[in-house]
Amino acid sequence: MDPELYSPRFVAEMRHLMTHQKSPEEAQGERDRHARSEADHRTSWNADRTYRYTRGMKGQTANSTEQTVRQWDPARDTPIPLSDAELLDIAEEKVQRRNATKHSASLRKLAKFYGSAERVLEMQFYQAAQTRVAAWRPNDRSLGRCERCCAQDHVDVEHCLVSSFAPPPIQPHVAGNTNLRATDHEPFDPARDPLCQMCNMRGHRQRQCVACTGCGRWGHSFNQCESGFARGPHR
Ligand SMILES: [Zn+2]
Ligand SMILES: [Zn+2]
Ligand SMILES: [Zn+2]
Repeated sequence: MDPELYSPRFVAEMRHLMTHQKSPEEAQGERDRHARSEADHRTSWNADRTYRYTRGMKGQTANSTEQTVRQWDPARDTPIPLSDAELLDIAEEKVQRRNATKHSASLRKLAKFYGSAERVLEMQFYQAAQTRVAAWRPNDRSLGRCERCCAQDHVDVEHCLVSSFAPPPIQPHVAGNTNLRATDHEPFDPARDPLCQMCNMRGHRQRQCVACTGCGRWGHSFNQCESGFARGPHR
């Protein structure tokens, strides 16, 4: 994957996905699971002599599944607390183990999309765009893509090569000014060329706008899609 092909915002979203930021619900769920397993531990500890022995050999006590004491046999020994240095070592090892687990979780997530980080980004882009389409919300114009065809090498319909007659039909406007025709820089007649609120182009009403099944955005159909996405026509 080449991150330079994507807008900064796109890359930021990818990073978010890969850095495992937990939602409040996920964090709460994790705390609940932990509390349950600690309670189970206390129950088993009190009920089961073999359990006490195996957990004691891991330096655990009745109160916690964390290692806080030297290996001990609860039937015979008094637990000896670990020194600060020993506790630090254990904490460090734990962080390393956790990082390794997180890393492999990332890889699994990627493998789901045929090992392609690019595919993950495209899927996110598509889903975000489709969510807007389903809610009759306009395209996200901050993504640095052509308002007409979704290409990355240009952003203005004025510079787009897709035919104005392709669905939805449009009249190209001057870059950054939807009130002026790109062809002669004269003002539009709003009655003849209404401004579509979804794709932000003139020449059709929003009810006539078309959403692409390749990239998910308003303003063109699948056959005109220049997103370059794997599910688009030009790959
Ligand atoms: Zn274009
Ligand atoms: Zn439109
Ligand atoms: Zn498209």
